[in-house]
Amino acid sequence: MMKKQNILLIYSGGTIGMAKDSDSGTLKAFDFDSLLVKIPEIRLIDCNIETVSFENPIDSSNMNPSYWEAIARIIESHYNRVDGFVVLHGSDTMSYSASVLSFMLENLEKPVIFTGSQLPIGDLRTDAKENLITSIQLASLHNNGIPIIKEVCLYFEYQLYRGNRTTKMNADHFEAFDSPNYPTLAESGVHLKINYEFLRKEKFEDDLIVRTELDTNIGVLKLFPGISEPFVESVLNAKNLKGLIIETYGSGNATTEKWFISQLKKAIEAGLYIINVTQCSGGSVTMGQYESSAHLKAIGVISGKDITTEAAVAKLMYLIGYNIKPEEFQYYFEKPLRGELKEN
Ligand code: ASP
Repeated sequence: MMKKQNILLIYSGGTIGMAKDSDSGTLKAFDFDSLLVKIPEIRLIDCNIETVSFENPIDSSNMNPSYWEAIARIIESHYNRVDGFVVLHGSDTMSYSASVLSFMLENLEKPVIFTGSQLPIGDLRTDAKENLITSIQLASLHNNGIPIIKEVCLYFEYQLYRGNRTTKMNADHFEAFDSPNYPTLAESGVHLKINYEFLRKEKFEDDLIVRTELDTNIGVLKLFPGISEPFVESVLNAKNLKGLIIETYGSGNATTEKWFISQLKKAIEAGLYIINVTQCSGGSVTMGQYESSAHLKAIGVISGKDITTEAAVAKLMYLIGYNIKPEEFQYYFEKPLRGELKEN
């Protein structure tokens, strides 16, 4: 008889496990045991489920690198014994966390599936049950004991996505996430439909390595018509800034005004990494396609290609955290390390 899969549920917080505070009426996280009592159905899934919870579950708006490290360390300490992981997480910053964890977990060969919900588990119309139950089922899929999913994913409202390709695009709909530049990995309908061709398939020689050094001295600057010189200058001169993502227009275009280019050039010459990410929700940066991006390429701006801002934030913190040599930085940023951007 095939042995049952062991799945570890990690509860970090989020709406899924929240209840209305009787005094203030606001939603606050409550403890994990109460959450499980609300979904007796998960006991019916054909796998062994273990649970670990943050001591104080958080609203994911409070997510930060120390919590990311905590999730990574929980995964590391159970990795050899457990077949798959489901991380319950608030939806607000779930795409950031899934992106960061994809970089932290090097040589990952087991599923790590982030999920959560738009309505609390206790709500009559909750989306939490389906999200949680299907995530557990996806995490336990295997072929003769070998996991089918071997990457960090995000499951929400019938779709399984590559985590570092997602973005939260709706605050109200159950369908809260999208993966504009990479196909869904699986769809849940009457049957679970796995899109095998889009899954990561690497086999690694080495064991899991958990990389938790992140440097948070980075920033994001969204361009808009009329952006002023003093504002750009103050951002570029922010204390200790080491990396800056500029969200540009269309395929990576920006104003060609002289002051803008010379400010950026000066910052790059002083050692700042500047990454070009489009503010469009889909598509890619192609520097040089228009005159309004050729100048960025010429001064050494790095292309984010089709990466999301969330994954760019994660990758920038990660690469700076590991002190990648300046002469190699562009190469590593523009190369897909965990399937977070396109190859060419
Ligand atoms: N504010 C909540 C959080 O991100 C929203 C959610 O869980 O969906 O923790």
